[in-house]
Order: sequence, then structure tokens, then C-alpha cells
Amino acid sequence: MAAYEYETHEYDVVVVGAGGAGLRATLGMAEQGLRTACVTKVFPTRSHTVAAQGGIAASLSNMGPDHWQWHMYDTVKGSDWLGDTDAMEYLVREAPKAVYELEHYGVPFSRTEEGKIYQRPFGGHTTEFGEGPPVQRTCAAADRTGHAILHTLYGQSLKNNAEFYIEYFALDLIMGEDGACQGVLCWKLDDGTLHLFNAKMTVLATGGYGRAYFSATSAHTCTGDGGGMVARQGLPLQDMEFVQFHPTGIYGSGCLITEGARGEGGYLTNSEGERFMERYAPTYKDLASRDVVSRCMTMEIREGRGVGAQGDHIHLHLNHLPPETLALRLPGISESARIFAGVDLTKEPIPVLPTVHYNMGGIPTNYWGEVLNPTAKDPDAIAPGLMAVGEAGCASVHGANRLGSNSLIDLVVFGRAAAIKAAEVVDAKAANPTVNMASVEQALDRFDSIRHAKGNIATAELRLEMQKTMQSDAAVFRTDKTLAEGVVKMGQVAGKMDDVKVTDNSLVWNSDLMETLELTNLMPNALATIVGAEARKESRGAHAHEDYPDRNDKVWRKHSLAVVDGNKVKLDYRPVHLDPLSKQEDGGIDLKKIAPKARVY
Ligand SMILES: Cc1cc2nc3c(=O)[nH]c(=O)nc-3n(C[C@H](O)[C@H](O)[C@H](O)COP(=O)(O)OP(=O)(O)OC[C@H]3O[C@@H](n4cnc5c(N)ncnc54)[C@H](O)[C@@H]3O)c2cc1C
Repeated sequence: MAAYEYETHEYDVVVVGAGGAGLRATLGMAEQGLRTACVTKVFPTRSHTVAAQGGIAASLSNMGPDHWQWHMYDTVKGSDWLGDTDAMEYLVREAPKAVYELEHYGVPFSRTEEGKIYQRPFGGHTTEFGEGPPVQRTCAAADRTGHAILHTLYGQSLKNNAEFYIEYFALDLIMGEDGACQGVLCWKLDDGTLHLFNAKMTVLATGGYGRAYFSATSAHTCTGDGGGMVARQGLPLQDMEFVQFHPTGIYGSGCLITEGARGEGGYLTNSEGERFMERYAPTYKDLASRDVVSRCMTMEIREGRGVGAQGDHIHLHLNHLPPETLALRLPGISESARIFAGVDLTKEPIPVLPTVHYNMGGIPTNYWGEVLNPTAKDPDAIAPGLMAVGEAGCASVHGANRLGSNSLIDLVVFGRAAAIKAAEVVDAKAANPTVNMASVEQALDRFDSIRHAKGNIATAELRLEMQKTMQSDAAVFRTDKTLAEGVVKMGQVAGKMDDVKVTDNSLVWNSDLMETLELTNLMPNALATIVGAEARKESRGAHAHEDYPDRNDKVWRKHSLAVVDGNKVKLDYRPVHLDPLSKQEDGGIDLKKIAPKARVY
């Protein structure tokens, strides 16, 4: 066994991650009197949530008629009928409450003339069950909504005495012999010490894994650490093949231009100056769902109508909008366009390209955030002591494709739900679990072997190989051929993990070691994604398969589960929850309204 000393901390709950989901869970747990620690590898307000621009969806009806059932219809349709019906109902019904709660906590939302929370249109959000015009449902704090939410939640968590462990890197889950999670082993980045957080409930809120791809809008810290930790315990990841490409990443840098830009009236053109979305989505045009717009852009480029010297991107126009609107509603992206594209958006269009943006898949949970460990007998069986919320989790409300502004609401609704559930299942008076030393040793041994890895490949080199493979073989459009090649290639790339080289083996601020640990987490996420994609012989949501252009509900309306072991992936499936939370006679939705049909915008 590797000889390391570590300090043990006992809490009722340890939350890993301080983005929107982690902070909302932390705040909720602390409010209910649970002793709560929040561990985070970056300073809380630097989590990727800070970059969220456009806003947070809730049917407040501040700008015109809206209804939770319309929001539900849009979410079901957006998910391409893969979302779990109970979880989606929970999301949209709790959404208004969660937004008002944020308002009361102090989030500085933009306002209407009458002082109500300002709401803007966003892709895929409509009225009258998709029969009416676009709805203004997305609540915004200018184009810095995530920033506003994150800062408010951090302040509130401190006020409620949650304890923060900042710049602590979670290495591995500690699991009891009974299969229950007992906490997490962490490495303190600034002094090299190790810390064991022993808790009755562990909540993974570690965010997405966008960095498995070459071009992504997500922060460099989005490395799927929660998914990696879960995979190492033999637990499955769900629906990983569904990766969202955002239509408008700035060409070259990948930096995001929010969908709010199109919500405020922006539109896309090809090299002929044509507003081509009118052709593909006559009703909602540039505000069709993200996967649809990304595919249309890719089709235009492929058919030779891309812009620029290489004909390899598309133009986003905002220059027709009044400069005051841009300054008031979209100040942040005016700056991004200037810095990252050298464009004055009051005068010129922005060069954009579909860019990896969001992971619909993740750690499977129910709508209370409890992690699932499905068995043949019980597809909804729970892994005790473990929860997952936010982009790391898969509840699943986004199914095969997430609607814009439905993630921020997912963070706060399910962060809050996890706290409500934890108050029920965690006994604050009970003793903490006796730590399973075998599990601690395993975690220490893994840490030590990576720290002293003496192979031949530099971490950055192997990471790039993975990112390039994913970018070219698990892209916006997929074919049997690219996917099959991708699976073989990714198997080889993941196999090289054993030959990685860590040159710096100190323990203080060792970014070489941290990036290697992150790569060990990215790898199972990437593998599960491409293997899941290769197996799914249909097109659904973000998974656009050219050899199987249609959705096939008979065979494929099911969640995929991937258990990753080294560079091998074992796939299984579990049924989609079709039952809503409430019956129609009790005020629930008419199931006929959300029955599967073709997804056109
Ligand atoms: C540029 C951009 C704009 C977006 N805009 C919107 C929008 O307008 N509306 C919307 O609904 N959605 C938007 N999204 C999506 C949404 O912002 C994200 O899905 C969401 O913020 C993820 O939040 P999270 O709390 O799950 O994770 P994150 O905010 O990514 O936080 C992850 C946390 O986990 C911690 N962590 C990770 N690994 C470890 C580890 N090993 N040890 C310790 N800590 C760890 C990190 O320190 C961090 O605190 C946007 C996404 C991007 C990238």
C-alpha cells in the first residue's frame, strides 16, 4: 500500500462541486441543519456555471401567456421523447418556485418596465403545445445569468454556515463493503496534503465533460471527474451518446455566443447571404431547437455554402439590432465578439460554428438526485449514500437533446430536490459510517501510481489524441463507418493511459499530475460516448446517424447504460419512465399532448 497520511473530516453531507448545482445543493443541505462540506477544485465562483449567459427557463408568464404544461411539452419534444416523464414534470412545475427563490436570495435579474423578472425567447420554447408562437420564458440577468446566480448562491451558502474546501481535488469515492458510498478522498492542491471526507451522503456536482472534445464552449475544468469516479466503482453512466453542439461557438476559439442573441432577433446566413433557417424550420426559423440548427449549419457548409476563405463557417447577424438593445441585453457577447473574433457586432456579422456545449448523458439518477445502480430486476435501484446533480447527473430531463436555458433550471431544481431528499434519508444524529480501509487503500494506490507514472506519452499529447478522435468520429453527423472507426481508435487511445508519463511528482500545485488525473476521468466518459453512439442505430436528438436517419421508438426509446472497465465498455439499457407524476384528473398533463410524433420546428 502506498504510504500517505491523510486527515479525516466527518460531515453529514459532502458535496463535490461548487457550480450552480453543487452550491444549490450545499445551500439546501445547510439550511436544513445538515453539517455540510462543499469540496471544489476551483474557487466556487469560477465554476463553469459562471459562463452561462442566456438565462434560466421557467413559465412565469411575465411577458405573455405561459403554462408549465407548455414548458413540459417543449422539454419532452426537445428531449426527442427520451426524457423521463416524471422528472420532466418535476422540473417544469418546480421551475417558477425555484426562480422566485433565486430572486429572493438576491439574484439581480433584468427587469421589465413594471419591475418583473425580464424573460426572453429561446430555441425550442413555444406556446400552445408547439402550435403557438415562440414564448418568452427564459429569465435573464443581461447575458451574465450564470454569473449572477453563482455569486448569489455562494453568498447564501456562506451565510448558512456551509463549510468550503476550496482547491481540493476529489480523487475517488470511498465505498463501503455493503456498496454504500462513504465519502470521498481529496488532494489539497496548494499544500499537497490528502483529506478523507467521511459522510453519510456524497453528492457529485462535478459538471460536464466537454473537454473530451477538441472544440468546446466549456471551461478547461469540465473533465467529467464525477463520471470518472463513478465508472471506477463499476457503476453505469447513462445516455452518454447524446452530446449537444451549440450552433454558435465563435469560429476558431469555440467561445460561446448565447442563443439569447437569436432570442433578441439575431439570425444566421450562408455565403449567399440567405437566411437558410427559414428553409429548414419555416415556423421557428433561427429559434428551432439547437441540434436542428447545428445540423442545418453543418449541411449548408457541406453543400458549399459556408462563409469565409475556406467556406467552413456561418455568419450570425446582430448588426441590424439597435445598438442600445445590444448594450443593454447582450453586453458580454459584444465583448466576446470583439476579443475572440475581432468583430464589432454593431457593424459586422460574427463568424460561428457548431461547438460541443453540453452533455445530456451522465450519472443516472431519479428526480431526487439519488444515483441509480440498475439491476435486471429493478431498473430504478438506488446506489445508497450517493447523489448526482447538475450536468454530471442524468435525471433524465434533457433526454437526447437539452433545450437552451433548461440546464440552469435543472441545476437549481434538482440541487434543491437533493437537499430535500437528504434531509429525509440522512440522520444527523447517527454516527458516521466506519471507513472501509480497503477502499481508501485502493484510492491511495491509484493516486500514487499515477503520480509516479513513467510511461512514454505526455498527458497533453494523449489528451489531444482523444479530443481529435472524438471531434472527428463522434461529431454532429455520425455514420456506421465513422463510429466503428472511432470505437476502435478510442479503445487504442484509452489503452495508452497505461503508458502515460508524469514528469513532475511533487504534491504542491502540480498541474501535470492534476491534468493526468483529469484525463483518467475524461477517458471513460469519452469511451462510453462513442461506444453508446456506435450501438444506437437510429437518429434521436443530438445523435444524428446518417445511416439511420429516423427515430425508432419501438427499439430505441430506452436509456443506454455504459459500464466502463479500463478501455472496455459494457452496454445495457433501461426503460424510459413514461408515467407522469400527476394524473390528468388531478391537474396533470394530458398524455396525448406529449405522445411521440415527428419532431419538426
Ligand atoms: C459557455 C456556456 C454557457 C451556457 N449558458 C447557459 C445558459 O444560458 N442557460 C442554461 O440553462 N445553461 C447554460 N449552459 C449550460 C450550463 O451552464 C451548465 O450545464 C451548468 O452550468 C453546469 O453546472 P454544474 O453545477 O453542473 O457544473 P459546473 O458549473 O461546471 O461546476 C462543476 C464544479 O465541480 C467542481 N469539480 C469538478 N471536478 C472536481 C474534482 N475532481 N474535485 C473537486 N471539485 C471538482 C468544480 O470545481 C466546479 O465547482 C452554458 C454552458 C456553457 C459552457
